[in-house]
Amino acid sequence: MAAGSAIQIPSRLPLLLTHEGVLLPGSTMRTSVDSPRNMQLVRSRLLKGTSLRSTIIGVIPNTSDPTSDCDDLPSLHRIGTAALAVQVVGSNWPKPHYTLLVTGLCRFQILQLLKEKPYPVAEVEQLDRLEQFTNQHKSEEELGELSEQFYKYAVQLVEMLDMSVPAVAKLRRLLDNLPREALPDILTSIIRTSNQEKLQILDAVRLEERFKMTIPLLVRQIEGLKLLQKTRKPKQDDDKRVVTIRPNRRINHIPSATEDEEEEEDHDDVVMLEKKIRTSSMSEQALKVCLKEIKRLKKMPQSMPEYALTRNYLELMVELPWNKSTKDRLEIRAARILLDNDHYAMEKLKKRVLEYLAVRQLKNNLKGPILCFVGPPGVGKTSVGRSIAKTLGREFHRIALGGVCDQSDIRGHRRTYVGSMPGRIINGLKTVGVNNPVFLLDEVDKLGKSLQGDPAAALLEVLDPEQNHGFTDHYLNVAFDLSQVLFIATANTTATIPPALLDRMEIIQVPGYTQEEKIEIAHRHLIPKQLEQHGLTPQQIQIPQVTTLDIITRYTREAGVRSLDRKLGAICRAVAVKVAEGQHKETKPDRAEVDEEDCKEHVTEDAKTESISDTADLALPPEMPILIDFHALKDILGPPMYEMEVSERLSQPGVAIGLAWTPLGGEIMFVEASRMDGEGQLTLTGQLGDVMKESAHLAISWLRSNAKRYQLTNTSGSFDLLDNTDIHLHFPAGAVTKDGPSAGVTIVTCLASLFSGRLVCSDVAMTGEITLRGLVLPVGGIKDKVLAAHRAGLKRIIIPRRNEKDLEEIAVNVRQDLTFVMASCLDEVLNAAFDGGFAVKPRVERLNSKL
Ligand code: ADP
Repeated sequence: MAAGSAIQIPSRLPLLLTHEGVLLPGSTMRTSVDSPRNMQLVRSRLLKGTSLRSTIIGVIPNTSDPTSDCDDLPSLHRIGTAALAVQVVGSNWPKPHYTLLVTGLCRFQILQLLKEKPYPVAEVEQLDRLEQFTNQHKSEEELGELSEQFYKYAVQLVEMLDMSVPAVAKLRRLLDNLPREALPDILTSIIRTSNQEKLQILDAVRLEERFKMTIPLLVRQIEGLKLLQKTRKPKQDDDKRVVTIRPNRRINHIPSATEDEEEEEDHDDVVMLEKKIRTSSMSEQALKVCLKEIKRLKKMPQSMPEYALTRNYLELMVELPWNKSTKDRLEIRAARILLDNDHYAMEKLKKRVLEYLAVRQLKNNLKGPILCFVGPPGVGKTSVGRSIAKTLGREFHRIALGGVCDQSDIRGHRRTYVGSMPGRIINGLKTVGVNNPVFLLDEVDKLGKSLQGDPAAALLEVLDPEQNHGFTDHYLNVAFDLSQVLFIATANTTATIPPALLDRMEIIQVPGYTQEEKIEIAHRHLIPKQLEQHGLTPQQIQIPQVTTLDIITRYTREAGVRSLDRKLGAICRAVAVKVAEGQHKETKPDRAEVDEEDCKEHVTEDAKTESISDTADLALPPEMPILIDFHALKDILGPPMYEMEVSERLSQPGVAIGLAWTPLGGEIMFVEASRMDGEGQLTLTGQLGDVMKESAHLAISWLRSNAKRYQLTNTSGSFDLLDNTDIHLHFPAGAVTKDGPSAGVTIVTCLASLFSGRLVCSDVAMTGEITLRGLVLPVGGIKDKVLAAHRAGLKRIIIPRRNEKDLEEIAVNVRQDLTFVMASCLDEVLNAAFDGGFAVKPRVERLNSKL
């Protein structure tokens, strides 16, 4: 047992200065640490890394450390107790502090103070529990009588207590098992003694002296107990608990003359909190729970970790907007203007949002499907959500759900956990401070699932108008009414949204933008916003539309405008440096006159030689805008990232361009095929899903069965295309998993090119599912795919005939730039994909060598 064994403490100890209690060897004490020196000690000696380091520290009692760091070290008590920190609990209330649980090991005396800052460290000498001490049984003999006397009193005292209390029974056992010399310290810390008395015991280094001093304390306690037992009625006998002899006034709630101001202050705070609870507008159920908790809080010692927990809980309950809401101001005409002002294009979305708001205005209730905007990143889903809040005059709060895989993220942790907290919904309500905000549930398609429960299931309860008036967060443990909250969700794809959740929502597709739309968005919204953010004015920087187009086509390849926005930000930063450096001093008249229409010409020859970038000392007068042309672009953003690569890649037979849909928008996809001698095997690479692999097999089967009709032969001239031939099909961008049936027509075209040796037209892209009989079936995502083809500069697009209706959604200017070929069977696809068609050749009778 530690109390009896020899202990060797280090010769240098960091010192913890306490002023509240006195720690004696063999006993445990909880102490609050808040002075800068002590806090520093805890942080650097005990809390290095994540676990508590079992460092021995020196606890010096009776020292009131100044609250300011720079104040000089107070004079220190000469003798202290070396101690082990058993637990450290941090809290921020009412001010940052730690609560330390320390166990005393042995006495020491300070020989010399080695340093004072950031916390004191001293050279020390150990005073008891030394090896020679524990081995010297003779000292025990000398002390025999004293120690025997002490032991008797101790036993008498313990036996006066209620032995059915486990702690008392344990104490009784300890009296027999502990070495006698440890008893004075331990019993002094258990019985009712003042700090002064404890200090005297601590200072009594000689054991004999210690016994002598403790015996009167024991006798006093025994007498006190006898008196108490006499005055008590018999039925109160069972109140004789070990706590009654403890010096813990807080537990017993007996006000004492020495009770300090801090406790009163704390009491005031609790009273204030109670008042707040009573005057808050929380539900009846919540009020009941809170009053119960505050009653518990009043009885709890402040140093208990649960105190801070309960307090935080009650503070949150008071802060929650139980009944506080903003008044809706909804005027459809104003809403329309606001939506139009904030967002260019996206007509379908704006129309649906206005319908939704109009119904709300007429019906004045929120029951109905939750709107869910689905589209690629950067198309303005979040920003429309924000505008809806603005039109309604409501608070807006975004809850990012990407990667959330624990249901307590939504529903909170139960309060039994250390560090428990409410879920994101309740936290959001606390942040906005009203009970009717607009909550944007961002990226519902990226909710995860884990052992900690399914967050989607928790969201179901939140979103269901039939249930959400009684939403119970685990942390609150009382119902909160969410029925006034307007939920809007966003997602990149509906494929990964759990079906039950999808069922609660009305999906509104937000497709990507055309180049023209992007230019408009950039000039109407993004550029003015970036200028403002960088403190620039239109008099300082001018970005003509051709430059914007260059950024869109050569520096970004996206459905939305987020990268475009970032690139514009980069340009503004570069110009801000130039402006701040004040490098534009001299006049350059011809530059100044440039206006947007003229830009195209100006960007050519002469601008090439004098962009802002290649001439760092280029001189422009302060009022002249810095013109961003292609050369400036190259200098700021680097060489273009995307060049037209289409015609280059289609210079060999066996390559065709397909159109794919991804959650990030449409993409063009090159399909490559090659053949080699082999045994008729098909190899597919590029991380393909099962459906895509099936499409490849379908395509080969159809081509094999139609090889004669199209005069397709393998390398040895046979119509059996797989005879002695292996085929390898590759879908580049192998890092991305691809699946879906829409590559069918592209695979057929690619293989037809391979076996016929003819080149596919370099400006054609295609999409469509195929059947074994050669029919072309409709596919999804036509708008995004067409926009991707348009972005890539392709001219002709082959789509399934049954998708013709989808073209109506595409902007007229895009449609004008493109030629659409509607195909209902593979013959039509092949005819359109090859220059001069891919007509069925009249059958030329040839002698088969085998006949
Ligand atoms: P998402 O939520 O779809 O990923 P955001 O709403 O974050 O996209 O939009 C990214 C940026 O693009 C925002 O600054 C937004 O204002 C801007 N933006 C997107 N679409 C439009 C538009 N149609 N009109 C004006 N700005 C837009």
